[in-house]
Amino acid sequence: MSVLERMVAGSYEQVVFCTNPEVGLRAIIAIHDTTLGPALGGVRMWPYRTEEDALEDVLRLARGMTYKNALAGLDLGGGKAVILGDPRKDKSEGLLRAFGRCVDSLGGRYVTAEDVGMTPDDMEIILRETPYVTGLPREYNSSGNPSVATAAGVFAGIRAALVHLTGSDSLEGRTVAVQGAGSVASHLVPLLREAGARVILADVYREKAEALAAAHGAEVVDAEEIYDVEADVFSPCALGGILNAQTIPRLRVRAVAGSANNQLSRPEDVELLRQRGILYAPDFVINAGGVINIFDEFMGYDESRALRRVSRLYDVLLAIFRRAEAEGRDPNAVAEAMAEERIARARAWRKPLRAETSRLLAALEARRM
Ligand code: NAD
Repeated sequence: MSVLERMVAGSYEQVVFCTNPEVGLRAIIAIHDTTLGPALGGVRMWPYRTEEDALEDVLRLARGMTYKNALAGLDLGGGKAVILGDPRKDKSEGLLRAFGRCVDSLGGRYVTAEDVGMTPDDMEIILRETPYVTGLPREYNSSGNPSVATAAGVFAGIRAALVHLTGSDSLEGRTVAVQGAGSVASHLVPLLREAGARVILADVYREKAEALAAAHGAEVVDAEEIYDVEADVFSPCALGGILNAQTIPRLRVRAVAGSANNQLSRPEDVELLRQRGILYAPDFVINAGGVINIFDEFMGYDESRALRRVSRLYDVLLAIFRRAEAEGRDPNAVAEAMAEERIARARAWRKPLRAETSRLLAALEARRM
C-alpha cells in the first residue's frame, strides 16, 4: 500500500517527512486525529532497519496515542514522531534543533514529548526552536518523572478490576504479583502494601527486586517464576510482549493489570485471556497516568490536580470491564470503541473544543525562550 492509501485506511490526518542533510535529520511525524485537541505523543529515536519499519512504527504509535488520550479524558489528539538513527551515535544539537523546527512548522497541531532514545535535556534543546514540547526538565515547571502518576493509575486500575470481580476494591488480604522492579513498580509497590496487599515481586535483576521488597515488606521470586504465582492480580510493569501462548496458560490470577506497553504479544492473545476467565485491563488505558500528568503542564503543572485526574482511570476501566462483560467482547475492543465514540461525539461540539485548543497552546507558547 502507498503512504496515502495507508493514511486513508487508518484515518490519518497528516504524515510529515522531515529531512535536513546538513545535520543528518530523517524524521517522520504522524498526526492521527486532532478532533479532541492538539496531537500529543512522544518522539522516539531508533536505528530502524528500514524507512518502512519507521513508517510502520510511527503510524501504529500515533493511532495508539489517539485512543490513549481520548480514554484518559484529555482534550488531546494522537500523534507520534520518529527520528531515524542511533541515539548514542547520531544525536546532535543540530539534529534536535532541526527536528524542533519541523515540529514548529506544524503550528501546534503536533506537540512532542520524550520517548525511547530521548532525554529531558534533548527536550530542552528542542524547546529552543518550538514551544510545542512537553516533558522538559523539572525547573521549567514541567510535570517531571511520569512514573508516580503511572503507578497511581495502575493502582486505580487494580482496584477497578477487583471491584468488578469481587464487589470490593479493598486490597486487604489480596495478593498482587508484580513483574519488574523499575520506576513504575517502585511507586506501585508501596501503594499496594499500604493498602494491605501481599506483594510478590520479580525482576531479571534479582537484587533490584530484593531491594524494593526489603523496603516495603514484599516477597521475591525468580523472574521466570512470576507467571506461576498464585495471586489475585498479575501486574506486568516490565517489558511488552509478555502475554503470549506460552505464558497465559501458566497464569493463576483473576486479572492482569499493569503498566507495561504492548503487553499482548499478538492482539488475538486477548482472547486466550478471556477463555481462561482472566480479566484484562487494556494497557493503553491503565498506563495513561503518565500522559495525564503531562497534560497538566498545559495548565501550569500541579501534581495534586494531575493525580486527581489520574484517579479517574478507576471509573474508565470499570466502565470498560462492565461493557465488555455485557457485550461478551474483549476489553481491548471495547476500549477502542469507547475512544472512537468519544471522538465521534466531540465532532458535534468541535467549535468550543477549538477554543480550548488555542488556550492550551497559548499556555505552551508563553514559555517560548
Ligand atoms: P524501568 O526500565 O524503570 O523498569 C523495568 C524493570 O523491568 C527493570 O528493572 C528491568 O530489569 C525489569 N525487567 C525487564 N524484563 C523483565 C522480565 N522479563 N521479568 C522481570 N523483570 C524484567 O521501566 P518503567 O519506567 O518502570 O516502565 C515499566 C513499563 O511500563 C514499561 O513497559 C514502560 O514502557 C511502561 N510505561 C511506563 C510509564 C512510566 O511513566 N514510566 C508510562 C507508561 C508506560
